[in-house]
Parts: sequence; C-alpha cells; structure tokens
Amino acid sequence: MALTPERGGEQAGPPPRIVIVGGGLAGLTLARILHETGIAATVYELDARPGALPPPDRVPVHPLDLRPDAGLRALRAARITLPADGIDAAELRRRLLDGLPSGRVVWDTPVMAVRRREGGRGHHAEPGLGLRPGRELELELDGGASVPADLVVGADGTWSRIRRALDDARPRYTGMFVFDAHLSDVERRHPALDAFVGGGVSALTEDRGLVARRVGDGVAVQVTLRLPAGWTELAPVSRLTASVVRDRLARHFTGWDDRLGALIRHSDAGPVARAVYALPRGPRWPHRPGITLIGDAAHPGAPFADAGANQAMLDAADLAQALTDHPRDLAAAQRHYETTRFARAGSPQAPARPEAASSPSSCASEATHARHLHGV
Ligand SMILES: Cc1cc2nc3c(=O)[nH]c(=O)nc-3n(C[C@H](O)[C@H](O)[C@H](O)COP(=O)(O)OP(=O)(O)OC[C@H]3O[C@@H](n4cnc5c(N)ncnc54)[C@H](O)[C@@H]3O)c2cc1C
Repeated sequence: MALTPERGGEQAGPPPRIVIVGGGLAGLTLARILHETGIAATVYELDARPGALPPPDRVPVHPLDLRPDAGLRALRAARITLPADGIDAAELRRRLLDGLPSGRVVWDTPVMAVRRREGGRGHHAEPGLGLRPGRELELELDGGASVPADLVVGADGTWSRIRRALDDARPRYTGMFVFDAHLSDVERRHPALDAFVGGGVSALTEDRGLVARRVGDGVAVQVTLRLPAGWTELAPVSRLTASVVRDRLARHFTGWDDRLGALIRHSDAGPVARAVYALPRGPRWPHRPGITLIGDAAHPGAPFADAGANQAMLDAADLAQALTDHPRDLAAAQRHYETTRFARAGSPQAPARPEAASSPSSCASEATHARHLHGV
C-alpha cells in the first residue's frame, strides 16, 4: 500500500487508511506528526469530546519533564514549540489537537475489536484464530458499525483492546501505588521547603518512598507506597477532598523528617493517585501485519520521571518516522518501527528505562532509579 501525501506531492496510489485507536498522548502525537509530514490518519477516541480529555485523574499535575531524545524530539516533529515554563499533559494534548484538521479525531467512538475480513465475513483477530496477511482489516466500533483499515495503531492505553489482537498479555498490579503532587512558586510561598529540597531530595525504604525535585519554579513530589491489591485506605481518592488525601499520605511519613510530610501537606495540585500496572511479557509483541502498538498500549510506562509521556511520544515519533521513510510500503514501515521499538526496549541507552517493571519491585529500587535520573 502506497502512502499518498495529504498536500500535493507525487500521487503514488490510493491513500492508506491509517487508523489510530486512542486519542491520548501517544495517538495524538502520532496523528499530529503524520499530519505535519503530509500523511492523513484518523483517530477514534472513546471520550465524548476534546473538553472531556483528559479526565482529571489522568492528568499529571506538573509540567512534563520531556527529554531531548524522546518527548522533545516528538515535539519538534509535531512542530510545537515548548513554552518557556514547560507544558503539562493537558495543555500538550490541546496543542496537539489544535494543529489537526477538524474531523481527524472521531470522538465518542469506542473501538471494540480489530478483525480481518475473510470473504466479507469478519473474524476476530485474536491470537490463534488464523490471521492471514493481506486480508483487509476492519475495526468494530461500539454500536456495530465497522471501519476498514490498512494499518491499525493501538494507542488505547494500558487496557488496550487492540493489544488483544496480538497476544494474551494482561496488565498485572505491581504492588505499588504512586501519588503525584506539585507545589508551585515554591521559593516565594515556601522558602523553608525550597531550601530543604534544593536540587532534589529523597527518602526511601522498601515499602514507601518520597522523591521531590525542582520543576520550573515549583517542586514535583512523588510518593510511592507498596500496598496490597485491593487496598482501600485512600481509594477511591476522587471521593475525598484533596486536603484529606494529603494528610493521610503525609501520615505515612510520621517519624521521618517533618519537612517530608510538609511537602505533601502544602502541595497545591494533586495528589493524583494511580496503581502501577505492568505487562508480564516485557515490551515486545508478536508481529502481525497491519496491527501495531504505541505508548501504554505497547507497554505501560514506568510511573517515574515522566517516563510514560516520554515513551508514548517517542513511540509516536518513531512510527511516524518509519511511515515517512517507507512512503510506498506500509508493511516495511511497520517492520521498521517494531524493530526499532524492540531494540530500544532492550538497549542500555533506552531513554530513562521507560518500561514499567514487569515484576513487583520495591519502592526503594524503583524510586532510586528516578533519583538517579534527576541526580537527586
Ligand atoms: C493517574 C495517572 C497519572 C499519571 N501521571 C503521569 C505523569 O506524571 N507523567 C507521565 O509521564 N505519565 C503519567 N501517567 C502515565 C501517562 O498518562 C501515560 O504513560 C502516557 O500518557 C501514555 O499515553 P497513551 O496515549 O499511551 O495512553 P493514555 O493516556 O491512556 O491514552 C489512551 C487513550 O485511548 C482512549 N481509549 C482507550 N480505549 C479505547 C477504545 N477501546 N476505543 C477508543 N479509545 C480508547 C482513552 O480514552 C485515552 O484517551 C499517568 C497515568 C495515570 C493513570
């Protein structure tokens, strides 16, 4: 299948139908970079409208720490200039969307499955059900409609439905909860805490940890607790007021340096809580022509140092690059992307070890990694 530029250029055949499932950071970054390079793609997103995206409990509360070799590279490819005071995930999504033609994101449209058409009858593309290359793919939408596609990109997050077409891997709870909070304008509002944090501070044991680091004029505070599955002390966090959650979190550090608790209690954004999930299989999947994965759908990002955002954006940049480098061959582009992606996952130079741990690990070991990244 040949790629046809959106805007002018050589007409090399019918345009490929590139469909991206999920309009999170990964999916929107891919759609935007492709658009900037003249390749059209359609995003199907289950959220009802742009304003609904992302829900508060999915928004990292601080300016993202985008790394030169990952998030910043993707931003350049998307032709977005990083504001001097940084950018948080919600604003980044807005800017990615702003540059897309209207109609490029189809809202309120959950994708239920991807399948391959055989003589007009669809077969669910589950492992072992006899997928054959060269047959037309189609997405099954909620409500029964279907959409044909030449390349389906699963960008539908940790609980990806598209991944089910590739393997049986299901995310597992790692045993850790992470809480992200943020103190803004810290030098003026909390000079004592500002001096305490300096370039960064951390306190870690096997079952709990706190890492605080400078981000712009503020401090990002990340608390990690090792908690049993089904733990409910703070859940559902969304039903408690933020100050109650902060207080309960701070109590986990009673008897430690009082300033650690103060960092939590004085935060003015968050805490945003998330249980940390990982795939047992590591960040690879079986190659199936026409279906690939990016972002958390490929492998949930580690919850430290904005690894999830960086990984999602780097995946998008790599896939867009592969599609641009192989303008006449979708299959070659997919192979190229997956080879790059798998090699990156196994490389010691992998940016900030973006993949989440595949097995339970301690707060200390995970957070120590985050400290090293930031020299804290
Ligand atoms: C509470 C919380 C806090 C986080 N904080 C940080 C942080 O501070 N820094 C950081 O780097 N990362 C953070 N992350 C992780 C980060 O959000 C992800 O790693 C990163 O955004 C990956 O983006 P993604 O696009 O791959 O997935 P997502 O952001 O999960 O986006 C997936 C999209 O797909 C859509 N979707 C899902 N299923 C379907 C379907 N069947 N059909 C259509 N659409 C579908 C969803 O609505 C969503 O919009 C946090 C995650 C959570 C849950």
